[in-house]
Amino acid sequence: MSSTPISVFSRAGVLLRKEVLDLHAYQVPDSVGYIKLDAMENPYLLPQSLREEIAAVVANAAINRYPDPNPAILKKKICTTLGLPQGMGVLLGNGSDELIQLLAMAVNKSGAVLLSVEPSFVMYKMIATFTGMRYVGVPLMSDFSLDLTAVLTAIKRDQPALVFLAYPNNPTGNLFSADDIAKIIEASPGLVVVDEAYYAFASNSFIPQLVDYPNLLVMRTFSKLGMAGLRLGFLAGSVEWLEQLEKLRLPYNVSVLTQLVASKLLACHEVLLQQAEQIKQGRADLYRKLSEFSAVTVYPSAANFLLFRVANAISVFNGLKERGVLIKNLSGGHPMLQDCLRVTVGTQSENERFVLALKESMGVEE
Ligand code: PMP
Repeated sequence: MSSTPISVFSRAGVLLRKEVLDLHAYQVPDSVGYIKLDAMENPYLLPQSLREEIAAVVANAAINRYPDPNPAILKKKICTTLGLPQGMGVLLGNGSDELIQLLAMAVNKSGAVLLSVEPSFVMYKMIATFTGMRYVGVPLMSDFSLDLTAVLTAIKRDQPALVFLAYPNNPTGNLFSADDIAKIIEASPGLVVVDEAYYAFASNSFIPQLVDYPNLLVMRTFSKLGMAGLRLGFLAGSVEWLEQLEKLRLPYNVSVLTQLVASKLLACHEVLLQQAEQIKQGRADLYRKLSEFSAVTVYPSAANFLLFRVANAISVFNGLKERGVLIKNLSGGHPMLQDCLRVTVGTQSENERFVLALKESMGVEE
């Protein structure tokens, strides 16, 4: 052993890759005691009777055993619920975040590029960075629509192995033009992943197009539909792709409890869809209320959140927090999001509390 003690800090500096040292961890603020409207969760609990059925399923779960490494029944249920075309299947992830990472690991040859648009879901860039891929972010237009010419130019120049397009986009909430996405898929030499995390609130999907494009994969998550705590996402696409990608999946990535509860919930899927409908109504109501504020610019959304711009986002964000409401401050994250805040649609009473706290924080008279 060396006689000179070396601090953990200097060891980390020597051992770790520069990309890791330079990275900022994904920030999750402490939300205890707040009305939590920061993370695009479904605010509703399940009906009591269903919770009791889940309790019984959980009580009988064999948690002494490893999970089924290839939960065929759960996968089949997902495929049937989705109405996946013939020859297509799903790959399950511990949340869809894990699938982004798995895809990046799969294509990460030296110099491989991951392309997305900006602003979009921050994990695309973060995962590209920590898996050692080169990240290319093409700015959106000022109305947050796709800059098709710029994306096509970047595709030609950078030949991305992987393109991610969130549909609807997070954090802007809009749906990109389906025609533009089709042109991007056609022009891409690599895989294009249409990330439909917010599908339940939009209903537009590229799943029917899977049969048309051999380089297309569609990613979804159960998180926004009321199962964020379970951690379950999936990638839908042709079995040929999935067979290759399965090799990278850790064998027990979906826990026994997740498999059981997700199967149970898929069997009564309509309860979750009803909740999504309620959230859509809440979104329309909240959009109307925010539009009435002359000092707020609110953007149309096909997701379960609204992006809005104010004169001083940090002071409004802090004012809301002081009044017990936690939303997401996006200001400073990207130049196009200057003074932007994002609020998740909550229950009716949460939305009302938010609007009231917003009025107070902005000094708006009743
Ligand atoms: N894609 C998008 C566009 C998202 O906004 C999120 C979560 N915020 C995810 C993927 C990841 O979802 P999860 O890991 O919970 O499945």
